Amino acid sequence: MKKTIGRSSTCDIIILDSKNRVSREHAVLIVEGGKVSLQDSNSSNGTFINGQKIPSGIPHPITPKDRVTLSNDYQFDVAFYLKEHFNIGASQQDQTLILNNPQITVNKGTQTVTFDPEKTAIADLAEIDGTPYKTIGRSAQNDFTVEHPNVSSKHLKIRMLSPEIIELIDLGSTNGTYADGKKLEPNKPFRFINSVEIFLSKSYLLNLKQLFPNIQLVTKDKNVQSSPKPGSIPPTNSPITKEELAAFKELENVWKEYAQRQQKANKVSSSYGMVGTAVGLALSVVTGGIGGAVVGGGLGLAGRYFGQQKSNEIRGDLTMEDMFLLTYACPRCKESFQKKPWVTIQDCFKCKLKFK
Ligand SMILES: [Zn+2]
Repeated sequence: MKKTIGRSSTCDIIILDSKNRVSREHAVLIVEGGKVSLQDSNSSNGTFINGQKIPSGIPHPITPKDRVTLSNDYQFDVAFYLKEHFNIGASQQDQTLILNNPQITVNKGTQTVTFDPEKTAIADLAEIDGTPYKTIGRSAQNDFTVEHPNVSSKHLKIRMLSPEIIELIDLGSTNGTYADGKKLEPNKPFRFINSVEIFLSKSYLLNLKQLFPNIQLVTKDKNVQSSPKPGSIPPTNSPITKEELAAFKELENVWKEYAQRQQKANKVSSSYGMVGTAVGLALSVVTGGIGGAVVGGGLGLAGRYFGQQKSNEIRGDLTMEDMFLLTYACPRCKESFQKKPWVTIQDCFKCKLKFK
């Protein structure tokens, strides 16, 4: 029996490595006649057993106790995957090994997905999420029928990737699909914050709330247009305004939420006895909202971050950590407070604005 390992969504063991050290098809774990071996699949950065690079294309014997890395530093917990996919070895004591790393491992059918909840790009997670699409068009065969002369019989496919993010594919419609006034290239997926305005042809506005009753619509921060870019504002000595103080106080929730999320992620990975959790749960842990750690009501960290964005189009490389660092910032100069606990922040080290 063979299990493929790599970044590709078609692998049996999917590794979403935020540093791209792991190839799309990196290696194969093989169990034949009770013998376990690992074979490198001509990966870019190689496969290492106990620090020694193994030659590509040749099965190399391993045991659950061997230390395996994909590239020279991505730790691959071979004992865990042998237990998970082949039910080999790994006593209860061995299993605690995985507790030491920050990764989440979840099952998706027969596949295992391993990722770092903070650093993996949201687009990569969405790729393996597998949330079903809803089809929209004039024909009754669609999930959502729109009786409008300018709408094609099969016009659009749409799915919710997280409570805040949607993905659209125009199905080669006659009159096109527009997102915030921009015509979408047909048959290609595009991701947007759900505050996007979607038109089928130029005359039919899609109601997302009607389509997805669970959606948490992100409202755009009205101050976005006037908010300065990091570093573009010179230090001023003017005292803090009421709005700036309110914005600073709101960051207490952002901080708490971030801290809780990290705790929760650790809990998921430490109790991997409950592997079998849908990837969707992991996604909501990562992107907030439903099932995520939301403190103080309202939108989660992701929602708050998205509310500040000018464009609704989602950056492909955005991670949970980016979101936190960009949201957790000085209300005046937008300099990030990094990971400094909220209670310890007295003033902004950059523009010198005093908060307390
Ligand atoms: Zn500042």
